[in-house]
Amino acid sequence: NLQGKTALVTGSTSGIGLGLAAALAAAGARVILNGFGDVESAISHINRLGIAPGYHAADLSDPEQIGELMHYVEWEFGGADILVNNAGIQHVAKVEDFPVQKWDAILAVNLSSVFHTSRLALPGMRERGWGRIINVASVHGLVASQEKAAYVAAKHGVIGLTKTIALETARTPITCNAICPGWVLTPLVQQQIDQRIAAGVEPQQARNALLAEKQPSQEFVTPEQLGELALFLCSDAARQVRGAAWNMDGGWLAQ
Ligand code: NAD
Repeated sequence: NLQGKTALVTGSTSGIGLGLAAALAAAGARVILNGFGDVESAISHINRLGIAPGYHAADLSDPEQIGELMHYVEWEFGGADILVNNAGIQHVAKVEDFPVQKWDAILAVNLSSVFHTSRLALPGMRERGWGRIINVASVHGLVASQEKAAYVAAKHGVIGLTKTIALETARTPITCNAICPGWVLTPLVQQQIDQRIAAGVEPQQARNALLAEKQPSQEFVTPEQLGELALFLCSDAARQVRGAAWNMDGGWLAQ
């Protein structure tokens, strides 16, 4: 039960972030959403769970806007007890063709934002004597795939940062862990399926090929399943889970 706790989930207007926000709200947490796109339907999704969510439109590639987001959470909600660093972007290209701006943007959103939200959330967690930081990394935080240089580098970085924060908070009731999903069918992955469709592959076949290459279960992981994992990491039972990179990946990393 997370009643009385405040949870900030970055990048929570769609996909995994919205699923994690919904799981936390269903467990009674006050939830703050962030992200772009169809903000209204994300808000009404959480409203239907009986929680009126906060929302802030900070662009997480900008440290200054992250500062404003964390101020908002502090002033309006008394600070984040649960920080879920979920916002992430992808770009697929070979290293020698990788646009430099895309590299910078992916490092900023997928890695540096985790540093900024964490450094700004930790003092309040220490003061209140409880905290959970959950970083949505990826299997690509532990192994690589071709043509995902920036994403793989950023996600490996997130796992390193997770371990450092776990050590610095080891003697406190604050834990920091990473979760490492395999394929989840969200807009981020649909975009990669669409690229195959554009190259002439049938939609169903494009989807199946994507799974068959990497994910032995040949089923997508769901945001709901990841939500249950996040709830476990928030529980008292998970108090000694510290610095973990916990995969939920249909067997991807078992190969
Ligand atoms: P998504 O595209 O559905 O959602 C991304 C969210 O981040 C959206 O709410 C978007 O508005 C927000 N966002 C993007 N750029 C932002 C910015 N600059 N500032 C603030 N918000 C921003 O993607 P998803 O698949 O749900 O991905 C969520 C996280 O899960 C990412 O970190 C991703 O790397 C990770 N992940 C996804 C998969 C997968 O298979 N989908 C697998 C492993 C890890």
